[in-house]
Amino acid sequence: MTVTQITETMAGVGGLPPYRSGEDPWTTDEVGELQAELEGDAARLRREISVAETGIADLLRDSGEGAGDDQADAGTKNFEREHEMAIANNAREMLQQTERALARLAAGTYGVCESCGEPVGKYRLQAFPRATLCMSCKQRQERR
Ligand SMILES: [Zn+2]
Repeated sequence: MTVTQITETMAGVGGLPPYRSGEDPWTTDEVGELQAELEGDAARLRREISVAETGIADLLRDSGEGAGDDQADAGTKNFEREHEMAIANNAREMLQQTERALARLAAGTYGVCESCGEPVGKYRLQAFPRATLCMSCKQRQERR
């Protein structure tokens, strides 16, 4: 299914994300808050990634110059580098999810389960703004 089709058939009324039965409808303010939170996260993650990348570059340069290092020193640097890389990778993945959520908000497909097309659920999104699957699809995916 193309994005256009989802927008036309499943987006919430009036451009607001869909919600599940039993939940209160979204208000413009709530969507604005969620968007601001996601944008704040994206900015923070971009900073974290650039800090981690600078750290990795420094460590790589140090290890190049560190011909005189003893074994223990080299081990510590490897460990630090792997640690920085893990931080950068996590942040990149998180940033990707955040940007995807923002793109879906802009496209009017935010809050539609990517698997079954049902609403992800307002309360779930307020707890996990990056969620792209409804609870039952998420649970099915985790069991696989
Ligand atoms: Zn689903």
